[in-house]
This record gives sequence, structure tokens and C-alpha cells, in this order.
Amino acid sequence: MNVASVIVDVPSMQTDRTFDYTIPNEWKGNIVPGMRVVVPFGPRKVQGFVTELKAKGEVSKLKPIVEPMDLVPVLNGELLALGDWLTEKTLCFKISAFQSMLPAAMKAKYEKFFSLENQKKPEELPLSLQRFFHKSREVSWKVIEESGFLPLIHKEVKNGTVEVLYKVKAKGKKKTVRKVYLNFSGSQLHQMIEDLPPQASKQKELLQYMSQSTEDEKGMAVTELIEATGATSSTIKSLVKKGLFLEKNEEMYRDPFLNRTFQKTSPLTLTPQQSEAITPVLKTIDEKEHKTFLLYGVTGSGKTEIYLQSIQRVLKEGKEAIVLVPEISLTPQMVHRFKGRFGNDVAVLHSGLSVGEKYDEWRKIQRKEVKVVVGARSAVYAPFENLGIIIIDEEHETSYKQEENPRYHARDVAIYRGQYHQCPIILGSATPSLESFARAAKGVYELLTLDKRMNNGDLPSVSIVDMREELRKGNRSMFSKELFEKLQERIEKGEQTVLFLNRRGHSSFIMCRDCGFVLQCPNCDISLTYHRFSDGMKCHYCGYEEGVPNTCPECLSEHIRYFGTGTQKVEEEINKLLPSARVIRMDVDTTTRKGSHEKLLTAFGEGKADILLGTQMIAKGLDFPNITLVGVLSADTMLHLPDFRAAEKTFQLLTQVSGRAGRHQLPGEVVVQTYTPEHYSIELASLHDYNRFYQQEMVMRKMGSYPPFYFITLVTLSHEDLMKVVDIAEKMSSFIRSRMSEATIILGPVASPIPRIKNRYRYQCLIKYKREPNLTATLKTLLDQYQQQYASKGLTISIDVNPYMMM
Ligand code: ADP
Ligand code: ZN
Ligand code: ZN
Repeated sequence: MNVASVIVDVPSMQTDRTFDYTIPNEWKGNIVPGMRVVVPFGPRKVQGFVTELKAKGEVSKLKPIVEPMDLVPVLNGELLALGDWLTEKTLCFKISAFQSMLPAAMKAKYEKFFSLENQKKPEELPLSLQRFFHKSREVSWKVIEESGFLPLIHKEVKNGTVEVLYKVKAKGKKKTVRKVYLNFSGSQLHQMIEDLPPQASKQKELLQYMSQSTEDEKGMAVTELIEATGATSSTIKSLVKKGLFLEKNEEMYRDPFLNRTFQKTSPLTLTPQQSEAITPVLKTIDEKEHKTFLLYGVTGSGKTEIYLQSIQRVLKEGKEAIVLVPEISLTPQMVHRFKGRFGNDVAVLHSGLSVGEKYDEWRKIQRKEVKVVVGARSAVYAPFENLGIIIIDEEHETSYKQEENPRYHARDVAIYRGQYHQCPIILGSATPSLESFARAAKGVYELLTLDKRMNNGDLPSVSIVDMREELRKGNRSMFSKELFEKLQERIEKGEQTVLFLNRRGHSSFIMCRDCGFVLQCPNCDISLTYHRFSDGMKCHYCGYEEGVPNTCPECLSEHIRYFGTGTQKVEEEINKLLPSARVIRMDVDTTTRKGSHEKLLTAFGEGKADILLGTQMIAKGLDFPNITLVGVLSADTMLHLPDFRAAEKTFQLLTQVSGRAGRHQLPGEVVVQTYTPEHYSIELASLHDYNRFYQQEMVMRKMGSYPPFYFITLVTLSHEDLMKVVDIAEKMSSFIRSRMSEATIILGPVASPIPRIKNRYRYQCLIKYKREPNLTATLKTLLDQYQQQYASKGLTISIDVNPYMMM
């Protein structure tokens, strides 16, 4: 085997294939598929993945590989094949598929080291290598390479004396963070603020912001401060110079889950319903059979215990398990439950980890030091080689779909891996996606049902309040009479309330009450959002900013104001109406700091507040016995999005939120405020009637020819020139039309729901099909031809197979 086929890191249509290179003599036998190598490519040197070895190349004159980047493969055979499959399914470049499976540390700038394995001594190495390891157990790759000992040390890596470590190039060895503290407080600070010259308004704002943020002795990381306030580093510097800010380099806050002991838990005796549900899963594990289960269990029905005991069986077989949870519910509570049962066998992968920490966790998997991975979407690629089960909790969550290339859905990848390893997949949810439930109804998945709550308690009673009616009765507050009274009652009884405010959709825009004018971004065709801190209007897509108008630019009316309610405003209102109530607010503003999410939840769990007020981040996973009331301030913000899944998302969210109440002894109650009480998604969520919702929504989907009746693919074009994008979109759609079968429906081209982003016009074409054998080939041709013809002229095409974002 003298030749290696390599996928090079040059993401383009023309280079999306393997290139052959010869293997230099000293590396013969040591370069294997799944390793990364450095190869010459045109005038450059680039990275690439070896996918195959051959005796001979296709052309006679081949260039040699420059050097290997890894000494052990980073992708195994299964993952290499998965890369091919992803490329085909999502129409991405193969290099993007491979890279998406590796931890970020291996994509970033890193340095490589050789390190003696635990308990190995330098004396165990060949003589010529020993001297390198006498001073330290770690030696830089460069040093060994320059001395010409790479091939020699490779043998040691193979036989387990030495390992290769990747360290992300960080500034210092310890992770530190630059933080600033207020140097003064109270009246002294106020005086200082007043004494600043009027032109120093940015500095004043910053000081005020810092004095209002109360956590952490008022210190804050500079990067976070900049992110939260939009301040510049020069403003911060001048405050440091003036002695108003103290600046310190501090060691970074470690991940909250690491170095922590978890109380050991033992398997619970399953209820009859749980036993019935788990039996077929255990059977597939025992019989080494692949099957996809849909575990449909109402909130609080004990799904997690089923996951835990299935994993236990898998571990007993000597196999490994992957558990996917949505990032947002990767809460300490969730992690506790897995670490508590399986202790140090568990690796946790979540976005709160630094790149280096994520790499550490990934390495534990690769080195087989752990058996269970709990993580968000990309954990589905965990490089286990003896996989026994993959569990996807909250399978309906759209965060399982990656919204950039490769646009994969973790569910599809999981099922692929399940087939490869002949092991079961469990999809769990209280509100399964229509797609999954329909598949279960057809017998493609096996349905497992838990329809009783653990405490045998009833699901909380839900009452719907028509906010139009409240307005007619003269109640202008954001609280209906009913919700307010119930809230008061809980505070008197010492029980807890969760108040939920959905901020997806357009939350805080400015509208003229006289003519209906809404302030829009001049570049993006989307309404500007009000930002409290800068007291200005900002575009979420391009960052455009302007001041808040005093009069309506359209009709000059003065009745132009800020609409929609932020959590901040709700908190103010509660403080006004119920001054004795203690509120914990959880939203992006209060949870940017690492660990703050957990801190706030723990405080609430310990009863340090009466009300937990928050956005969707509180909808999931909360399990506190004292919560007896859940209030949804406005149920309809999501209903009006231009998305065929709007009703489904509304139903899911309302069900999730309601599930937070009455999970233990105390009965729970839910109040849902809405302007559209008659909508079936709201009504059926209040009745906890998933089945009827499913029936009704299936009718709607059938009428609209949407999934699960049809598959869809969304093609979006964007260009700065409107005429051009319209013209190309027309040509493109007729090309697609000419290639598709009769039964396929092609909508468009039409302007996208957000027709312009960053001054680029966006047109889209939606393809709906049941079976379309020509689809992949057609879209590939499209990418190939149009990319070649127009890419240099500024056109971008994006193709999303099974899209979850319709905008
Ligand atoms: P779900 O994930 O379906 O919302 P959970 O797994 O959170 O439900 O279960 C709800 C509660 O019931 C948890 O506190 C859990 O510890 C408890 N529980 C689950 N199974 C059992 C069991 N077999 N016996 C006793 N308690 C259980
Ligand atoms: Zn107006
Ligand atoms: Zn904009």
C-alpha cells in the first residue's frame, strides 16, 4: 500500500473528492485511514483526511504526503463511512462532514505533545527516545520531529507507552480571564459618576451597568461586559486608568460539573407501566438487534429511569451508550441523574465547556475511559466502537438539527449508527414530533407509552384566560385577574410559581399605536428590537443601531411606543404589585456568566424565591416539589411565525411548561394567557390531549402537503442585487422543475419570509416530494453549475434537506 487517498481541507465543489498521494518510505505501514495528514495542494500545504490506502494511484506522478498530523486515526471506519453518508444526505462537502465529527480543539490552532502514559517510565522507551523524557513527561511534537524520531516514537504510541496530546494554543498555561471590578460603591460611586464630564456618557453607562449587576462581588469578565453592553475596550481602559475600575487576571471558573462528587443512586423498582415499556428495549439489547423506539411519556412519567436502566443493561454487555439532550436542558439536574447512577463512567459534553475541556472529555471517550456520554447534538458522533444504545431525550426539539453545514439531524445520525452497531435507539418525548409519531403509527418505530405520572397524580389543571376579554374589562396589566389572584395565593401559602414569557418571535419592537408603523432595519426587512441597556433600537441580524424615535416617522403621532414585554418589565411589574414577592429572573441577561444558570436554579430550589420568571430556558427539566403554579404570560407569540410547525411548537412549549407544576405531592395548576384562546394548539395543550392534537395537526399537514406526508427541501439563494437574484432563482426553479417527477411539488421562487438580510436579497424555492430519486443528483448539479457560474459574482446557494428553519 503505497498510496493514500485524501480528502483535502479545501471546501469547494471542485475539490470535494479524494486526491492521491504517495506515502513516504519512513511512514509506510503507519499511515492508515482516519488519520489526518499534511499534503501539498497546488502551491500550498493543506490538511486532509486519509480515507483509503491503495497499491497504486490513478495518475502516475503523485506527490508525497508531507507528514502525518495524527499518529492514531481520529476517525474510525464507521465514522468515515458516516461522513460519506452525511455528504450524500445533506449535500455538504465531505471535509465539512469529517470536521463536524471532531471536537473543536482539533480544528482550532493547537500544539501537539507526546506524553508518557500513566505509570510508564522513560526507561521503557528505546534508548534514543529516553533522553527527551528525562526532564518532563511531556515533550513537544516539534522537538521529536526535528530530531527525526517521529517514526520511532510512533511505535511507542502504538504499543501504548506514549500518547499524543493536543493542546489548544492558549495565551497562558492556566486558563485566565481578564476581569474588572468596581473600585467604589454606593454614594461614593454615584458621586464619581456625576463628576464624569458629560461627553463621557459611555463610561457613565458602563459604571451604572456594573453597579446594577449584583453578582460576583460586582466583578465581570471584560469580554462579557463588552458583549452585554456593546462598550468598547477603550472605554473600559479609560475607566481603569481613572481608577474607577480595577482590572485583574483571574483563573477561569472551572466547569460546574467537573471535580464534583455526585451522590450515588441505585436503580428504582420500576412501575408496571415502566416495566412494560422497557421490556422490548432490553430484548433488543440482548438480541443485538437494531430497532428505533419512540418512548412517548407524559411529563413526570419516569422516562429517565427507563433510560438509566437500559444503559445499565448495555454496560453489563460491555458496550457503550450515548444520551443526547437539548443544550438548554443539559442542566445540572439532568447531569446529576446520569453521574449519580454511573459515576465516573460518564463524560459530559456541553457548550459551557471550554474547547480544551471538551477535548478532554472527547479523549476520555476515545481512550475508552468512559462508557456513557451525555451531551448536546454533536455528542452523537462520540467515537465509541462498541455502541449499545443511543437515547435522544426531548426528541422533538429542533436544536437537534444543525443549522449550518453539514445540516444534519442528530436523530438521523443516531439511527444510522444504530443500524451499524445493531443496537436500539430510544427517542423520548412527552410531545413527540409529528414525524416521529407518524412513523411510530406506521410501525417504522416501535411505540412505547407511559401515560401515568409517577406520583399517580393528575396532570395539572390548565385554565385559559382570554386576554382580549381582560382588556375589555379594563385590565391593562400584563397579569389577568385570575393569574394575579393565584399568584398572591401561592405567596401567602409559601408555595412557588414559575412565570413563563416566550420571547421568541418579535418581543420588543416599537409600534405606532395610531398608524401601526413598526420600526424596521434599513438593511434586513425585519423589525428592530429595543435594547434596554443602550436605550436604542438594534437589528438582530446585521447589528444596525439607531435611537428610539419620539414621534412616528410615518404619521408624526407621539403614540409610538415599545411593545411586547421583556422579563425585566415583568419583574418590575411584580415588584410594584407584590412588593413582598421574591423573584428570580432567568433570561439571557442574567445567565451569560458561566455557572449562573445553575446558581439561580439552586437558589430557587432552596426556596430562596417565590417566583421564577424566565424565557424558554426554564421550560425544561425543572423538577421542584414546591412549584404549584405555572403562569404563561402570552401563549401566542410563537403561533404567528411563518412556519408550518408553528402550531406544533406552541403545543410542545405549552405542554413542557405546564409539566413543571405539581410533579410531586402538591397538586399543580397552570394559567395560560392568550389572545387566541380558540386555537387548537392552545386548547388541546390545556387539555393535555396529545393524541387529538396529533390528529388535528395531521389533517393540517395533509392539506398543506407538509411533513410527515411529504419530505421537503428548501433551496435559498441570496445576492446583493435584487434583479439578479430573481433572475437566477427563476432559472434555477425551472431547472429543478424539469428534472423532478410529476408528483413532486415545487413552490416558488418566492421571496423568503425574511426577504433581506445584511443587504442581501433572499429568494427561496421549496421542493415537496414523497419519493424523488432524482433529487440528490439534481441538487448536486445545481450546486456544481451555479456555484461555478455565479459564486464569484456573489451568489450564495444554501440547500437544506428537511429544514427546521423556514425563514
Ligand atoms: P420524565 O423524564 O418522564 O418527565 P422523570 O424521569 O423526571 O420523568 O420522573 C419523575 C420523577 O419520578 C423523578 O423524580 C423520578 O426520580 C421519579 N421516578 C421515576 N421512576 C420511578 C420509580 N420507578 N419509582 C419511584 N420513583 C420514580
Ligand atoms: Zn404612526
Ligand atoms: Zn439588519
